Amino acid sequence: MKILKFGGTSVGSAERMKAVSDLIQSEEPKIVVLSAMSGTTNALVQISEALYQNKNKEANALIDALHDKYKQVVEELYKTDEKKKQARELIDQHFESIRAYTLDLFTIHEERAVLAQGELLSTALFQFFLEEQQIPSVLLPALNFMKIDENEEPDAEYIAQHIRKELDKYAGTNLFITQGYICRNTFGEIDNLKRGGSDYSASLIGAAVDATEIQIWTDIDGMHNNDPRIVKDTYPIAELSFDEAAELAYFGAKILHPSSVLPAKHKNIPVKLLNTMQPDAKGTTISSETEGGAMKAVAAKDGITAVKIKSGRMLLAYGFLRSVFEVFERYKTPIDMITTSEVAVSLTIDNPKFLNEIVSELMEFGQVEVDENQTIICVVGDSIADKSGTSAKIFQSLSDIPLRMISYGGSKNNISLLIDTQDKVKALTLLNEGIFERNSPNA
Ligand code: ADP
Ligand code: ASP
Ligand code: MG
Repeated sequence: MKILKFGGTSVGSAERMKAVSDLIQSEEPKIVVLSAMSGTTNALVQISEALYQNKNKEANALIDALHDKYKQVVEELYKTDEKKKQARELIDQHFESIRAYTLDLFTIHEERAVLAQGELLSTALFQFFLEEQQIPSVLLPALNFMKIDENEEPDAEYIAQHIRKELDKYAGTNLFITQGYICRNTFGEIDNLKRGGSDYSASLIGAAVDATEIQIWTDIDGMHNNDPRIVKDTYPIAELSFDEAAELAYFGAKILHPSSVLPAKHKNIPVKLLNTMQPDAKGTTISSETEGGAMKAVAAKDGITAVKIKSGRMLLAYGFLRSVFEVFERYKTPIDMITTSEVAVSLTIDNPKFLNEIVSELMEFGQVEVDENQTIICVVGDSIADKSGTSAKIFQSLSDIPLRMISYGGSKNNISLLIDTQDKVKALTLLNEGIFERNSPNA
């Protein structure tokens, strides 16, 4: 069984959906995971924001505009009047259910139900298209098997058991379609795997069914060595290890959801990143086999807050760091980077929700300084920290940029630096010029 996930742009128009149906034609058994059509989840977020603020007129205008877009897709996607009628009825139902939320109290529960509509629509429309083309397939409702637990972590055992149950209902079927991103939470309510979560769905489903391969089809030819939205002259990387890919995803490479590599790594299932616009391009293969010791890629993660605790009590003391970490643990706030000296410890977090509470508890240990608007730059490569000359190249490239923290040696695959967000574009550009060998054999 293979898993093929198609992102928003890949199903973003009637034409793109037709192209996807060409890409899934082979006989081998597969589960196709679809995102919402591009722009839809953003529009649903906007609608929800308007509803939270009781701006119902604005919400209705946004709903009408999105509905019109889908009416157009229906006209373009189907040939027969019968399918057009069926699809029109389907989208009308979905938009009626969204409009119903303008009539009553709007809370996070309603928001999650609204956000789920994008994937429900794209998969249903695609399934109708396959039916019209007489391609046998079954639409599997992700809400019957994708589940997160009380810590908002996927419940792998539940997912494996329940997807198996669904698949067993359709012996002899080789093509399944399902929704990315959406799931149920521990209360059985509709929830989601956070923005970009369809990649995570694909990986979780792959691990649940012991897939032979997970393919992430998107709008670019694989993981590039740097953020192509910011830097010119980036190139795709042919091979990455699970750890390298996981670090790039976690530290900001938008092509993959931050957690999406882990389920595949856990089951040792290769992940391929492929381009729907250029299906023959090699893309990136993520697996346990990796080569080279070169610096492979750079990623940047914004929205970081640095917290520094200065305390004379640290000197020659033990147990100090544990007490500091316990504060973060109490507020379920993960720490990304840490550096320590004799009298101070600096840490970074990406979730400032409990920052005030954390800071007031930390003040019991000493003086606390907080810096917001920070960015982690993460340089990734195989055994990068073992290779002589690597760090020199990085620091030479960034000699003009103030470095707030440096993390080296924590993982052999990565060197991380903390900078002010206003220096990010410059830092990524300088690293692109300074640390990669052009015509890398990997490129
Ligand atoms: P999808 O809708 O298919 O999930 P995304 O927009 O989530 O697509 O991810 C693909 C985009 O990720 C690319 O178009 C590119 O702009 C962006 N991106 C950011 N960093 C990288 C990188 N290092 N390599 C490739 N793409 C990247
Ligand atoms: N549709 C969701 C989003 O836009 C999930 C995804 O595309 O992966 O975030
Ligand atoms: Mg994505």
